[in-house]
Amino acid sequence: MLVTTAVAVLTTAVLAALAAQPAPPAAPAPYTVLTREGRRPLAVRQMSGQEMFALDDLAKIFDLTLREDVLAGGLTVSTKTQTVALTPGQAMASAAGRLVSLPAPPVKEGRSWFVPIDFVPRALGPALGTRLDLRRPSRLIVGGDLRVPRITARIEPQGALARVTLDVLPATPHAVTQGANRLLVRFEADALDAALPTSPVPDLIQAVRVAEPPVVIAIDLGTRFGSYRAADAPGERGAGRIVIDVVAQTTEAAPATPPPATPVPPLEPPLLEASPTGGLRTIVIDAGHGGDEHGARGAQGTLEKDVTLGVARRLKAAIEARLGGRVILTRDGDQTVGLDERAAVANNNKADVFVSLHANASVRASAVGAEVFYLSLSDYGAQAQRVAQGEGEALPVFGGGTRDIEAILWEMAQARHIEASATFAQLVEAALRERVPMSPRAIQQAPFRVLVGANMPAVLVEMGFISNPEQEKQLASEPFQSAIVQALVDSLVRFRDGHSTAAPSPATPPGARR
Ligand SMILES: [Zn+2]
Repeated sequence: MLVTTAVAVLTTAVLAALAAQPAPPAAPAPYTVLTREGRRPLAVRQMSGQEMFALDDLAKIFDLTLREDVLAGGLTVSTKTQTVALTPGQAMASAAGRLVSLPAPPVKEGRSWFVPIDFVPRALGPALGTRLDLRRPSRLIVGGDLRVPRITARIEPQGALARVTLDVLPATPHAVTQGANRLLVRFEADALDAALPTSPVPDLIQAVRVAEPPVVIAIDLGTRFGSYRAADAPGERGAGRIVIDVVAQTTEAAPATPPPATPVPPLEPPLLEASPTGGLRTIVIDAGHGGDEHGARGAQGTLEKDVTLGVARRLKAAIEARLGGRVILTRDGDQTVGLDERAAVANNNKADVFVSLHANASVRASAVGAEVFYLSLSDYGAQAQRVAQGEGEALPVFGGGTRDIEAILWEMAQARHIEASATFAQLVEAALRERVPMSPRAIQQAPFRVLVGANMPAVLVEMGFISNPEQEKQLASEPFQSAIVQALVDSLVRFRDGHSTAAPSPATPPGARR
């Protein structure tokens, strides 16, 4: 009876093969077996509507012994310690003493036996005493304790940026770095099981692909690329999520001629020379809040977002009149702008200094005075602090000294400038003190998100307490706003002069950073 069934199955297989002959289906793509021993292809056959592996192929890869008992019609597959018994015509196997089901019976063709691909995880894995993970979408068989995270990527265009989201299962340590014309996400893994999108974003993202070594995902950048930021978010059930925003150059920043096709990012100057040496060519002023985000609100209805924009506009005009150079506002209207986007505007424009304007609020109506902040690294981990201490080699660089990979994590950007930011904050505080009331805590460090990604000296100024009725009136008034503006211009002049008296660095001639 067993033999008869086997013949019937064989006949079906032959008929199926004959029927397919006029237009033979393309051979299914092989699987790849990933184990500690390496990566080996495993051919797959489409038989009787099933994907099947040849037992001979499995025997070579997994060191198995096959024995066919023709009289009994049985078939055994032996590992060093266990045996899997198969019976022709039966969609099951006995593996390591346990019955497991298979989606179809084994099939004999010529002298070879074929088994459904599920045989591998269901029967062979238990018999080998290891986990064999069959991943159909990526056509992988992952053996044992290999770390092969499943990565699903998608690209979403979002106006001036394109967002690449990588869902990683399980969550896997990684580093995002910038190389020549591409961003690289390197995973601490043995291999990647990646499902990557094929739809590029014109001029911004050309492709998302697995690079070399194959634990790296490359995001090939287009000619409109200005900057990027990367952030991690916890996913569900052990998954991780990496969100990478690829930000286009702003219109304001667009050079007259298109950038070369393969720009090599200039090496950043060493930390101590990170401050502008050739003057302040580009200053980015960030009017806090905007659009839906009103910020703090005074009792008389004064909105922080209006105060910050008013001061930002005045400051731009004053700087252009007194310092010259280029002044860029992160917003020049009542629109919502993301925190990282604000720093990105400064980075895209290679700004020499970044000033973020805000108005404070307190539950104590008596709270009064301006405060100047620069970034506190305490929330940004040991790596940022090492970067700040000038241990440049702590920056994640990989590829063993390749010249085209200069790596700065978004989170690390401000760390390189923290000393210069502290100096600038002191100058701002001193200049403000000459003209407006100061808070008892006039200079502080805080982990403000808007400062984190700024790759230049950066401060945040709380100009006064809008929650204080007296200060609310001041903040909305022209004389007070002008006093703030004068103080900021003074501090910028002092910052510029203080640094230009230092020996100019031959490594950064004027214009070199543009
Ligand atoms: Zn604010």
